[in-house]
Amino acid sequence: MITAGTVQPILPLYDKEMECLYCNKTFITKKVRSKFIRIKKRDSDLCNHYEGINPYYYEVFVCSHCNYAFTERFQPINNICNEIIKERYIKNTALANLNGERSLEQAVKAFKLALLCATLAGESSYILAGLCLKLAWLYRYDNNNEETRFLNNALDNYIKTYEQGDIATLNKASLLYIIGELENSLGDYERARRWFSILLSDKTLDPKIVKIAKDRWQELRYERTLEEDSK
Ligand SMILES: [Zn+2]
Repeated sequence: MITAGTVQPILPLYDKEMECLYCNKTFITKKVRSKFIRIKKRDSDLCNHYEGINPYYYEVFVCSHCNYAFTERFQPINNICNEIIKERYIKNTALANLNGERSLEQAVKAFKLALLCATLAGESSYILAGLCLKLAWLYRYDNNNEETRFLNNALDNYIKTYEQGDIATLNKASLLYIIGELENSLGDYERARRWFSILLSDKTLDPKIVKIAKDRWQELRYERTLEEDSK
């Protein structure tokens, strides 16, 4: 029983009411309070490792009425896609119940549902790429080989985004950086070199990201020299 004067502890997770993009009903999802977020380290592809609670686990909202899974970046659904989602997803999936505290496994499940919904909803390749990248990171925490598959999927979708040109100049530098970084981590140094060179020679891009990319490229070149020397 709560009596007057009792101090309630502040917990890392809180409830947030969301409106579903598919059925428009409201449901409760968990969110992480920012003061509990502690980054332990960051990988070169920008994957954060957290101490304690991991905010990535809660980026996907899964509607408790219809199971539609989405993030803050998803667009409203048009009529054609609405029908496709109903036929190929809503009718065939059992309610996932992912609205409480999530384990790594449940976070993976939420992202996989979101990836499926994004595909059916015709979301942009940029959105698909972001979901694949986060899935790869979740698998990385677990040393699971599936990481490579999703890094590859992320890379394909980021390249598609670049080729389609549907990216604001503000994001172009970050996009080129992540493409270069993924090419290298997936073993294609030559292709990584080409992407970094596009980034570093474009004078219209965000100088802050260009500086990070320049440092990263020097690092990669240095690592490469060490590898060559040890052969
Ligand atoms: Zn719904």
